[in-house]
Amino acid sequence: MLSYRHAFHAGNCADVLKHSALHCLLRAALQKPSALWYLDTHAGAGRYDLGASLSRREHEGGITALRAGADQLPPDSPLHAFLGQINALSPDHRHYPGSPQLAAAMLRPLDRAQFCELHPQDHTRLAAQFANDPRIRVSRSDGYQALKATLPPPQRRGLILIDPAYELDQEARSLIQGLRTALARFRHGTYMVWYPLQGKLDHVRLLRDFCRLEPPKTLRLNLHSVSGTSSGILVLNPPYQAQGDLARIADELPAALGSGHSTEFDWLIPEQSL
Ligand code: SAM
Repeated sequence: MLSYRHAFHAGNCADVLKHSALHCLLRAALQKPSALWYLDTHAGAGRYDLGASLSRREHEGGITALRAGADQLPPDSPLHAFLGQINALSPDHRHYPGSPQLAAAMLRPLDRAQFCELHPQDHTRLAAQFANDPRIRVSRSDGYQALKATLPPPQRRGLILIDPAYELDQEARSLIQGLRTALARFRHGTYMVWYPLQGKLDHVRLLRDFCRLEPPKTLRLNLHSVSGTSSGILVLNPPYQAQGDLARIADELPAALGSGHSTEFDWLIPEQSL
């Protein structure tokens, strides 16, 4: 029984970290003319009303704080490009796009995507949003199974977002097993994995188990927040063009979000380590 609803947290600082990085990765991947496969294993509801009763107003420390702090950013910051995309999807700032809506807005007609979501209500909302989009398949299926079922993609180029809710005790095990399967089938894909730095997940153990998979080169970006959700992302096989923008997000996000934020950015798995 799944009780997690992303609507509680939509637009918080963990979402800003994850979605600004996703925006960078998609921008880089879409510079190449060939078709891209995009898989979102834990897709959520796709789009969120920040004024709805489910919202716990965490967006005030996330996307709303970033908008307020945008004048602190250099004019060429990748965070301006990210905000431009978010504002285009919600000019009145009332809604916040989840990863599916953000990706769908960026993908081209030749690209293909699958969004997996197990929660019945969130799946229904997600499926309704993309019912008429021939590029996108929405499935009420286990995202870890989709790694096995869809990789390697026929396009031979893929970006995979793995963004679990970590509400189940065995989540870390499922994630490591899912990554093991995915890397065996499609080692050169780009993967982004989100994890919380607080709560019941033992993230130190998760990262140790990840390193034991002998993964390809992997960037790590952690955002620590005194008042919000501290979290991190791993980016396996980051496109070269995205690496500089991810470094700039790491540099520029804390000041733009306001005091009480800091980041760490490093190669967890450097290119030549194997
Ligand atoms: N990726 C979304 C975004 O950035 O907008 C947020 C996803 S939320 C953190 C995680 C979602 O995964 C929840 O909606 C939950 O119902 C769903 N979920 C949990 N276990 C799943 C699984 N094994 N396969 C697919 N979806 C799952």
